[in-house]
Amino acid sequence: VVVVGSGLAGLAAALEAARAGALVTVLTPARAGRDGSSHRVHALAPWILLTAPWLRGDSPRRFLDDLQRNGGDLQREDVTAVLAARAHDGAVELCSALDLAAVEREPVVLPGDPIARGLRCRPRQTPLLAPLLAECLDHGVRICERALAVGLVLGGDRVAGVVFLDRRAGSLTELPADCVVLACGGVGAVFPRSTAPRWCRGSAIAIAGAAGALLHRPNLTQAIPVTATPPLYFPTTAALLGMRILLGDTPLPRQATLDAATVAIAGAIRHGRSVWLEPAGDDSLALLPPRVRESPTFGRERRVPLAVALHHGIGGIAIDRNGRTSIPALYACGEAAGGAQGGRRMMGTGLLEAWIFGRLAGKAAGCEASRSASAGGGQLAPANGRENEAGRAVVMPPLVRGAAALEAALDRLLGPLTGVRPAGEVAAALAELEAWPLSDGERAGDGEWLAALRRAAAIEVLRAEAGAPVAASAVGQDTEEERR
Ligand SMILES: Cc1cc2nc3c(=O)[nH]c(=O)nc-3n(C[C@H](O)[C@H](O)[C@H](O)COP(=O)(O)OP(=O)(O)OC[C@H]3O[C@@H](n4cnc5c(N)ncnc54)[C@H](O)[C@@H]3O)c2cc1C
Repeated sequence: VVVVGSGLAGLAAALEAARAGALVTVLTPARAGRDGSSHRVHALAPWILLTAPWLRGDSPRRFLDDLQRNGGDLQREDVTAVLAARAHDGAVELCSALDLAAVEREPVVLPGDPIARGLRCRPRQTPLLAPLLAECLDHGVRICERALAVGLVLGGDRVAGVVFLDRRAGSLTELPADCVVLACGGVGAVFPRSTAPRWCRGSAIAIAGAAGALLHRPNLTQAIPVTATPPLYFPTTAALLGMRILLGDTPLPRQATLDAATVAIAGAIRHGRSVWLEPAGDDSLALLPPRVRESPTFGRERRVPLAVALHHGIGGIAIDRNGRTSIPALYACGEAAGGAQGGRRMMGTGLLEAWIFGRLAGKAAGCEASRSASAGGGQLAPANGRENEAGRAVVMPPLVRGAAALEAALDRLLGPLTGVRPAGEVAAALAELEAWPLSDGERAGDGEWLAALRRAAAIEVLRAEAGAPVAASAVGQDTEEERR
């Protein structure tokens, strides 16, 4: 089994696949366990949030109802049901697996939630994923750092391996596999301002899309207001809804939800207005996290400037209850996958999704790989970009001319579309990106492949936004065997 990505979903999948008896390799572009959003969770706010049914009176059923209400029919019911059913146990497991300590004794009521569900935690160890990475290594998982996946090998109708850029050597390498798990995060860094690290640039939908996998609404994303200085800090939902927001000089009427506040702020910034967050009386000052309250900007101005950042990819590759995609032997999980949530995502559920679906996908892939008689045995081979020596097809997003110019164009086109997406601008951005000249791929390195992945992901997002047909519900039903 080859797992692409070493965030929470990737490491959870790798561990389960290894426990199921498979030989597992994890590919990751920089340092294992440190190059994804999972590594950043406690850098954005003073705590990690785990939203799940915790209290008597709450239940998976109530949680499911709320997920569905928020989703507004844009989620996949069967996948959402798995998240709801497993959220509580998953959160307990996650606290143990990552050695998290609760900040308060009880969960808190998050704005907009009908019941206390937000457990605030802090890791006892850092980096956050260190305990899980250690467990993977104990189970014999091979970690391949500085490896950027750029494509898939297809044998007949199924996936038969991964093509990756060996960033040390600067060459493409093929890694045969019985099953591939795409756990390479969301589309955050497709957009120029994002809370996600630069590696999380939609590789999953770029790579799976090139292979013809069904995607589930890749345009569904969550943007949030962040402080412009200190950069990229989330002032908390309570502060954004409880303090005064100024759009230029005009106070924004108090908003009911974080999403409504985000849209209003994004709209104002698009019109060139500066946006500020300031206390509405001394009481509300306490809503600001210490890092913002104690920042030089706040000390000087008694307010902080706001920006909007792409925070989470809600959509992604369409999966079933076990993380299977529409292509045999290809799995997806975590932010790479879509369908667990719809129109409005619940804060504090990203880690749970990564954990729950990472484990399910890893277990299913590990069992499938252990059953199939592997021919390749995971040997590395040079990749020539079109057809490998065994006559299998290699599918990758196309390389482009002028990677640096393309990155600049992506920043220009997608920045204004982070929080609000007017149809005309979406169409114009899509046309420009689709018409971008392609290259023959001679001497492509890091910059070229990163730009190619970002462009391909951006096109998938914009096409879905523009209303191009998006298959949302066609991933296969569970077989009798799986139901048992
Ligand atoms: C700042 C911040 C704070 C957050 N706070 C919370 C919180 O409090 N609670 C909560 O539940 N959720 C939170 N989230 C959301 C949560 O962190 C994510 O949803 C979750 O960690 C996603 O895990 P993942 O494994 O799917 O993706 P990631 O952790 O992003 O991992 C993706 C992995 O894939 C790698 N990768 C990407 N492209 C490639 C490629 N082409 N080839 C090889 N590898 C590749 C990446 O480098 C990385 O290793 C937060 C997110 C951010 C950014």
